[in-house]
Amino acid sequence: MAVTQSTPEAMFIDGKWIESSSAKRIPVYDPSTEEILAEIPDATNSEMDTAIAAARRAFDLDGWPQTTAQERGRILFRIAEKLRAEAPQLAELECRNTGKPIVEAEYDIADAATCFEYYGGLATKVSGTVNPVPDNALSLSLKEPVGVAGQIIPWNYPLLMAAWKLAPALAAGCTCVLKPAEQTPLTALKLAGWLPELGVPPGVVNIVTGFGETAGARIVESPRVDKIAFTGSAAVGKLIMKSAADTLKRVTLELGGKSPNIFFADADFEAAIDGALFGVFINQGEVCSAGSRVLVERSIYSKFVEAMTEKARNIKLGAPLDRETKMGPLVSREQYERVCKYQQLGRSEAKVAIGGGQPAAFKRGYYVEPTIFYDVDNSARIAREEIFGPVATVIPFEDEQDALRIANDTPFGLAAAVWSRDIYKALRMVKAIRAGIVWVNHMQPTYVEAPWGGYKQSGFGRELGLHGIDEYLETKQVHINLNEQPIGWY
Ligand code: NAD
Repeated sequence: MAVTQSTPEAMFIDGKWIESSSAKRIPVYDPSTEEILAEIPDATNSEMDTAIAAARRAFDLDGWPQTTAQERGRILFRIAEKLRAEAPQLAELECRNTGKPIVEAEYDIADAATCFEYYGGLATKVSGTVNPVPDNALSLSLKEPVGVAGQIIPWNYPLLMAAWKLAPALAAGCTCVLKPAEQTPLTALKLAGWLPELGVPPGVVNIVTGFGETAGARIVESPRVDKIAFTGSAAVGKLIMKSAADTLKRVTLELGGKSPNIFFADADFEAAIDGALFGVFINQGEVCSAGSRVLVERSIYSKFVEAMTEKARNIKLGAPLDRETKMGPLVSREQYERVCKYQQLGRSEAKVAIGGGQPAAFKRGYYVEPTIFYDVDNSARIAREEIFGPVATVIPFEDEQDALRIANDTPFGLAAAVWSRDIYKALRMVKAIRAGIVWVNHMQPTYVEAPWGGYKQSGFGRELGLHGIDEYLETKQVHINLNEQPIGWY
């Protein structure tokens, strides 16, 4: 295994840049030009094991869990500060690698920094409890880090997803082996290069690159990893759960969705149209919580579809680095082909209000048209399967009961939104919807202070907020006998 100087085309293992022993490289693309931006190592099992061993040693022997919470908090604050200082170059890199509009990439980097700040502050607030047992004993619950965390993330918010994983784990005192998505590893690798100067000891954070079926699977299988935190598709989440069962690892899964964005006739019409578009088209629709099922009350349905379609014409597709661009290309050829297939399927399952194909203006790049299908039946495949692209399915409903029935008629349960001026109705819906996140008169705002995660097949466990750090902690019960007499049983 060759050790190299700092280079973004190697892996960050045990505080050093390591080149893979495999000659195989994984090309990383700019999806707007289809040109290769970089080539990353395809980690072998032996390199994955080296990364896991480094994290194990940093946890078991080098004293990372024993550093004070104040020190870990300060390191996280320094990471946040660095991300803010380097935000322009990080946003540009994220934008070029994912195809997302630069303005959105800027928000992502700022949110990633905020996440490190939040958990930097929270590091010193983790404490156990005293349990109310009878007087002859003192009973404590101690919070301890779970150990080595294997973290596997998707390509839609690369640095932000890395922050959601690393920040709470480090605050808790865990060490990490993080595998970015093979399509979008560049910002996480950039961050890795700064970690030594920010005070992160060798082995505490390891960033490895490779494919899911090989590098990702190795982390999940390893008996030396204590916990898996996975964000990605439900299909891969199921594989991970099965594999993790062999070593009875702790698992948290943040999976996909088919979230309903529900519009009652009494909603503010202008805000509703904006909210319907924003809910499903932001980040090219490559959003786990995308409001891809737009449920509209029958009495405003025609007017709504018309207005949504009219406003969708304003969505400016363009080069991701152009500040006017509101929608860039999809992340990869694979994703492009997947979305094109659903557009084709949608044309046979429903009516097309706008889009449904590829924009003629682009000679290269994985661009697809923002697409609105209407008169969609909730049993159609385009209403049941996660498309993960800019494709809205508009479904009419008759009344509150009908809206609720359709909203909950999905295997997923990540998110939902309800738009109404009637607080009674809105709150009845909030209570009855089976989803981990419910917005009222908005869709998509996400704050690090509030828990994030799904019901049903959208996964389990929660990231962000106070819950986020709990997922990286074990609880140890300590019983201290205060009675000096022998037990006297025998
Ligand atoms: P994916 O499941 O294909 O891949 C996600 C990650 O898992 C990648 O790093 C990949 O290399 C790895 N992986 C793939 N197969 C693996 C295996 N067998 N073992 C271990 N690791 C493996 O998902 P994607 O296409 O990168 O991302 C899109 C999906 O992510 C969508 O379903 C989306 O809804 C979901 N997502 C969910 C959230 C959330 O918070 N709930 C957030 C973002 C994305």
